[in-house]
Amino acid sequence: MNPDKPLPEGLHPDTLAVRVGIDASPYGENSEALYLTSCFVQPDAATSARRFANEEDGYTYSRTSNPSVTAFERRLAALEGAEAAIGTASGMSAILLMGMGLLKAGDHVVCSRSVFGSTMKLFGSEFAKFGVETTFVSQTDVAEWRAALKPNTKLLFAETPTNPLTEVCDIAALAALAHDAGALLAVDNCFATPVLQKPLALGADVVIHSGTKFLDGQGRVMAGALCASQKLIDEVFAPLIRTTGQVLAPFNAWVVHKGLETLAVRVRAQSANALQIAQWLESHPAVDRVFYPGLPSHPQHALAMAQQGGVGGAVIAFSVKGASPEQQRARAFHVLDSARVCSLATNLGDVKTLICHPASTSHGRLTEAQRQAAGVVQGLIRLAVGLEHPADIQADLARGLDDCDNY
Ligand SMILES: *Cc1c(COP(=O)(O)O)cnc(C)c1O
Repeated sequence: MNPDKPLPEGLHPDTLAVRVGIDASPYGENSEALYLTSCFVQPDAATSARRFANEEDGYTYSRTSNPSVTAFERRLAALEGAEAAIGTASGMSAILLMGMGLLKAGDHVVCSRSVFGSTMKLFGSEFAKFGVETTFVSQTDVAEWRAALKPNTKLLFAETPTNPLTEVCDIAALAALAHDAGALLAVDNCFATPVLQKPLALGADVVIHSGTKFLDGQGRVMAGALCASQKLIDEVFAPLIRTTGQVLAPFNAWVVHKGLETLAVRVRAQSANALQIAQWLESHPAVDRVFYPGLPSHPQHALAMAQQGGVGGAVIAFSVKGASPEQQRARAFHVLDSARVCSLATNLGDVKTLICHPASTSHGRLTEAQRQAAGVVQGLIRLAVGLEHPADIQADLARGLDDCDNY
């Protein structure tokens, strides 16, 4: 941004994604500078003292703040409609920061049991060690969330759509429930991104991002972020991360900051490809079920369309038919191994289509009974759709699906 020409008010999200950041340096670069520095030279001792005492803005040390990180934080906050954001080293470190900032021993959390696996472990095992109790409830049944509330409930945590089954929860309903109980609602917006869904506008108090996924969009760096009110950022999260140190590296911040410039076009194009592939999968004789919010067969299709601006997103799960779990697994492995375009990898949000088998990867540490309860059957395949031509991805899947009968 040009320091002499501040951006006008009322710009559209597509414009904000390209234009919001920090002022250009005196050299007037158009592509944002990368501030790869751990510390900042202070003009004089008195200024240094004021900056360290938080009495004056100004950079001192990159664990406290860094211009490349600030630029990313401002741009993401603008897209989420948040007053402020804070960059973190990864998505998990954003959730850790949130928990450390909002919870203490004796507090209670209600969390969907369909959230990301590491999130389940963080709440269920790690926070439990510090005396924070978590009740896991149905992703979709608001009555179960209500029944789980206790006088000491401080936080409701949701993710929508979820991994891998793309289950959708009602953000506005959960926000109302949280606020009636004197608690906050945090939403992991990794799958939908602010292009499709703005949880803060629906009543959530905190938004979590794994920047590793769609925000980067090309699978290059680990990154994360937390969006919230200016008050929560200034009084809780910024002082905390300065102590705990899970900060976003300037280089990664720069990559993700540039990634946000193309976020909307990527998410819309990848979602359009996903819808086409999901419709085709639903008609394939070797496929048992397709889980995709954009299909009328999805159990929360109407809610998803209302909450996500009519778009289903870029992640699909589908299961192959099979007489037994062993046969389903053999067929799923055959589909994965037959793919020559899709990458066999567990990330998502990449412009390259990624294919994986949740039961032996993200959900591999669960018992078979836990997997069944979670709906992660042996025949389930997750497809994170990229920017390739959808016909090429269909042909790549057909390579394995068309001769599943032989496995
Ligand atoms: C990947 C992911 C995370 C964790 O993010 P990392 O950047 O890998 O730490 C959290 N939530 C969801 C929904 C994710 O997909």
